[in-house]
Amino acid sequence: MERKKIKELLSSHKTGKEVFVKGWVRTKRGSKNIVFIALNDGSTINNIQIVADASVFKEDLLRDITTGACLAVTGTLIESVGQGQNVEIKANSIELYGKCDAETYPLQKKGHSMEFLREIAHLRPRTNTFGAVLRIRHAMAFAIHKYFNDKGFFYLHTPIITGSDAEGAGEMFHVTTLDLTNIPLNEDKTVKFTEDFFGKPTNLTVSGQLEGELGALALGEIYTFGPTFRAENSNTPRHLAEFWMIEPEMAFYDLRDNMDLAEDFLKYLIRYALENCREDLEFLDKMIQKGLIDRLNFVLGNEFIRMTYSEAVDILIKADRKWEYPIAWGKDLQAEHERYLVEEHFRKPVILTDYPKAIKAFYMKQNDDGKTVRAMDVLFPGIGEIIGGSQREEDYERLLGRIKELNLPEKDLWWYLETRKFGTAPHSGFGLGFERLIVFITGMSNIRDVIPFPRTPKNAEF
Ligand code: ATP
Ligand code: MN
Repeated sequence: MERKKIKELLSSHKTGKEVFVKGWVRTKRGSKNIVFIALNDGSTINNIQIVADASVFKEDLLRDITTGACLAVTGTLIESVGQGQNVEIKANSIELYGKCDAETYPLQKKGHSMEFLREIAHLRPRTNTFGAVLRIRHAMAFAIHKYFNDKGFFYLHTPIITGSDAEGAGEMFHVTTLDLTNIPLNEDKTVKFTEDFFGKPTNLTVSGQLEGELGALALGEIYTFGPTFRAENSNTPRHLAEFWMIEPEMAFYDLRDNMDLAEDFLKYLIRYALENCREDLEFLDKMIQKGLIDRLNFVLGNEFIRMTYSEAVDILIKADRKWEYPIAWGKDLQAEHERYLVEEHFRKPVILTDYPKAIKAFYMKQNDDGKTVRAMDVLFPGIGEIIGGSQREEDYERLLGRIKELNLPEKDLWWYLETRKFGTAPHSGFGLGFERLIVFITGMSNIRDVIPFPRTPKNAEF
């Protein structure tokens, strides 16, 4: 018989039929005569109830059915007389795939702390919370591809290993096959990278943007969606050393088009979650963050505030507030400033534009004022920066000038510069941190709890 997913059975009205399910036991209760098993197979947050007549099954089989055990059950789908479910399964046969030792299984009780669950990341997907988060994470990944595909964007695979160290977005992880206990050296004691695998220094990518631009200047509109790596020692609830980023890059978009796309994209994803992940969101609203669904709807129903960095700094200076990091024009905004703007001042998502060029990357289009660049950051409640982007500098001389000013390795960027020589075009793009999006959608408070196996300083278990 064909196995059915529990999600499908729970919405089925075809009672009286023989069905076959497999899954893990969440709870078992009952009496000497009858046993009720809540079975979950991960297809939905809801369990299906298995009813086993104790006289039909061997006693030691029933004894071995404990929380965490894995079962295959055939039985008759019947209308449930109990509360909380429409249908249940009256078991005809039960096969025990895997026992689960009640003494040592760490997921016995409810209400484990998030910190403890992080230590058992191999098992935490079996909890309601992590099941919900991971299903939503999947749905968002799917929706991202759907959104861009429907708009005619092409998914471009940019390299994970890069040979350019020029982006300045963060510290990089080296990629090498050199023997670290016996590093070959040049005469001047620098590392002899000509003996390394690629014959030069290489790193894990911090962003696919530069290569993404090459795609946009040929295919028109592209996006990347892949892992990125930052060896920054940021022990915050918003930073991971390995995270996933979505980076659309579009020819012929100016900064306003870029902002319009970012807002439309985020709203599409929120709407998609509300329409397709309802049960998981309701669970998270109840158990993790009260008011979550209202907050998502609120963001959907309101236009994002758009203003310049300079205007925002004025607001922050006038704010009656003692900042941990004092604010002045020219300084980068800290999380406390960003969160003040979105959570207290405007109480809405905010897009800030036209940042001082000194605090932004070399590739951003310079404004005529000589001081600012056409950058945009999208700031979200509870998160701070969720998107960072800009219109790109398309002028060869200005781009080269900036590269020289900042002492960036011009020779490593020859290919990037050539696009500005051969049919350059105005273009823009941005990067959305996938996990920050998932933090927002799920209401989880730590970014380590929205990725299956988080990588953070001093932590690469699993
Ligand atoms: P922050 O100032 O918060 O560190 P950033 O300015 O370094 O962010 P960008 O380089 O613009 O961020 O990266 C684009 C997006 O990637 C950010 O808006 C954010 O959503 C996400 N992001 C950046 N760094 C991390 C990280 N360490 N972990 C998870 N997501 C990140
Ligand atoms: Mn950063």
